[in-house]
Amino acid sequence: MMLRCVLFFMLAFLTFPVMQGAALHAAQLRLECPEVIGIGLPFVVRVESDAPLDRLRVEWAGKTLQVPGAGKSSVEFLLGTDVLKSKPGTETLRILKLGLDPLAVQTSILIEDREFPEQRLTVPTEMASPPAAVQERIARENAEVRAVLATVSPDNHLVLPFMRPVPGGVSSAYGLKRFFNDLERNPHRGLDLRAALGDPVRAAAPGRIVLAADHYYGGRSVFLDHGLGVFTVYMHLDEFKVSQGDMVEAGEVIGLAGQTGRVTGPHLHLGLYVLDLAMDPAALFFTNSVQ
Ligand SMILES: [Zn+2]
Repeated sequence: MMLRCVLFFMLAFLTFPVMQGAALHAAQLRLECPEVIGIGLPFVVRVESDAPLDRLRVEWAGKTLQVPGAGKSSVEFLLGTDVLKSKPGTETLRILKLGLDPLAVQTSILIEDREFPEQRLTVPTEMASPPAAVQERIARENAEVRAVLATVSPDNHLVLPFMRPVPGGVSSAYGLKRFFNDLERNPHRGLDLRAALGDPVRAAAPGRIVLAADHYYGGRSVFLDHGLGVFTVYMHLDEFKVSQGDMVEAGEVIGLAGQTGRVTGPHLHLGLYVLDLAMDPAALFFTNSVQ
């Protein structure tokens, strides 16, 4: 099991040279993005213009994103796909330059299927299916999380590559197919990193704490908004070291690792969401770009 996780981790890293990708030329707008990307991986899009950029409207996977150009000649932002919500195949990326002199460019990106390892666990019945008494709580917490992740704040705080929130290695990779008592569950839509109880957990990139709450599944969880629809999430914390509304720098301690929520031992679950799609954070430990 462990060897397969490590192999996957390396494969995610090796796919990145592909992402240097195509450069499409329009009159005044150049778009750089990958031509092919594995499902569940984030990627950086770069838009350049001969004239100062005003506002851009980005259309991707049925979602839209407004990117402020701030008068600069280039902007970069993050997009990607979700192992659960996206499908392999071709997806169109369309960029519209708004303002006095509107322009549009578009390209197709091939989303490739990938093989993910399987994990079969035998767990107590109440962990496999939560008791009726907590269903309302779970629904309320899901709604709270969806509202947070659907927010697109206009200030881009993202800096890549990500800093590692804890020094520990990967214990469960993104995309892992999970079976509890032989019943298939949703795939693992984050990255589990080894951490002992009380280990400091650090912000992967600068941003604002938009939610610090105790949830049934995630336990004590911190949601960090990096702007332009990008969030990192830190789950199962023993203790918070930040409050909602705080701005944090990359590497700043946001909490202590723990085993709160529905887990079998202490570790950090790190999530990466872009436009409410969950993707693999591991890829961004190696990607230089954005700012
Ligand atoms: Zn996890």
